[in-house]
Amino acid sequence: MIEHIINGQKVASAETFETINPATGQVIAEVASGGADEINAAVAAAKAAFPKWAATPLKERARLVKKLGELIAANVSEIADLETEDTGQVTGQTKRVLVPRAADNFNYFAEHIQHMHGETYDSDTGHLNYTLWQPVGVCALISPWNVPFMTSTWKTAPCIAFGNTAVLKMSELSPLTANRLGELALEAGIPAGVLNVVQGYGKTAGEALVSHPDVRSISFTGSTATGNRIVKSAGLKKFSMELGGKSPFIIFDDADYERALDAAVFMIFSNNGERCTAGSRIIVQAGIYDRFVADFATRAAKITVGDPMDPNTIIGPMISAAHLAKVRHYIELGQQEGAKLVFGGGTPDVDEKFRKGFWVQPTVFADVDNKMGIAQDEIFGPVPCIIPFKTEEDAVRIANDTIYGLSSYLWTNNTGRALRLAKAIESGMTFVNSQNVRDLRQPFGGSKASGTGREGNHYSYEVFCEAKNIAVSY
Ligand code: NAD
Repeated sequence: MIEHIINGQKVASAETFETINPATGQVIAEVASGGADEINAAVAAAKAAFPKWAATPLKERARLVKKLGELIAANVSEIADLETEDTGQVTGQTKRVLVPRAADNFNYFAEHIQHMHGETYDSDTGHLNYTLWQPVGVCALISPWNVPFMTSTWKTAPCIAFGNTAVLKMSELSPLTANRLGELALEAGIPAGVLNVVQGYGKTAGEALVSHPDVRSISFTGSTATGNRIVKSAGLKKFSMELGGKSPFIIFDDADYERALDAAVFMIFSNNGERCTAGSRIIVQAGIYDRFVADFATRAAKITVGDPMDPNTIIGPMISAAHLAKVRHYIELGQQEGAKLVFGGGTPDVDEKFRKGFWVQPTVFADVDNKMGIAQDEIFGPVPCIIPFKTEEDAVRIANDTIYGLSSYLWTNNTGRALRLAKAIESGMTFVNSQNVRDLRQPFGGSKASGTGREGNHYSYEVFCEAKNIAVSY
């Protein structure tokens, strides 16, 4: 039984739900399902822990946060296996990339808080103005099921390092590693009540958390629909919203073809395509278009789909039966809309023991019109749309013709064109001649329907700190 962690104690609930291994369809564990009572208790614990934690000497707070990072690093294998079992994210990602990066998040902010600084202005009125970055208090941290451990540490690390206390609500589809995070925080010596973990559904635990009057700030990662709902009920709380995407991956005739092809394959099929920054609209210039479609389909056909615990697997199962049905709906829709299905569309041939899992083949649509539903909606699976274009202007127009603005990818060897497009494309992040590579010092986040606010470095102050100005007359 996976229970909540409230004020340093394991707490059960009368209601429970099951978490399922999406590769096999089998139940892994029963999980306590929290509601208003558990949220009230967790927020009360976080509120009570806040004054002492905020006043903990900086070096001690940094030591404890770093210790949590070290414990994660020491347990990468175990945490990665849990995450793979719970989500179907392949071990090649969880073990090699995602869990180690989660440890880095704590190391990074343990270091960062020792160098935080405000501004000072000496004014003609005879005042010295200076700024302090102060913690806000109790924060709600809400994470989705795709890469859940890393996403939750992305929030937890700056939140508690700055001196806040937190209630973490993980997706009901991926509760296991959030539970480990809560346990490891206590093992690191972080005081009870600083990081509380409440398991449960969005409608019950999630809504009770975001509408709680003692919660000062909400850091949310999830779908645009849920983000919109939360913003409406947040009132005057601070918030940052990391939401969905439909990112353009633009390849010009003059690009380094093989590298661009590799990166295009990686950016839609890694993490099972269940990736907010997926390059899901591959926009290819006319001169290389036919060759690219053929090569891309050949590469998709070679991708290993199957046991997510096998280090050679590239694509595992979809997270749930409901999500699989959604991805399949878009595969049907693409065919109805007249896009050309150049690979996939069916169910992969998996081992007997995986037959009850939630599988879909990597599926490639070409000759897609950007107005089609498959090009406009976030499918969140291994289903790219390949879209042809002729001119630079066309590329920008197609790239920006979306409600989303999370990431973008630009492949060209023309420096001037790269600079022009990097400026013109509406997205929070643009990668030029590169796949998505995260540098913890850079702002992560999106524009338009992909969200508000940024995570990382001092960009995290906006949601987790108050900028306090102090004016001293002399
Ligand atoms: P979701 O919006 O369904 O759920 C996200 C979280 O919100 C879950 O913990 C859920 O229980 C909770 N929730 C649901 N309703 C709620 C409510 N009314 N109040 C409070 N909490 C509520 O999203 P999902 O399906 O879990 O995740 C996939 C989405 O997340 C995709 O759209 C993806 O692009 C996005 N995502 C974005 C980023 C980013 O950094 N921009 C990163 C990862 C995932």
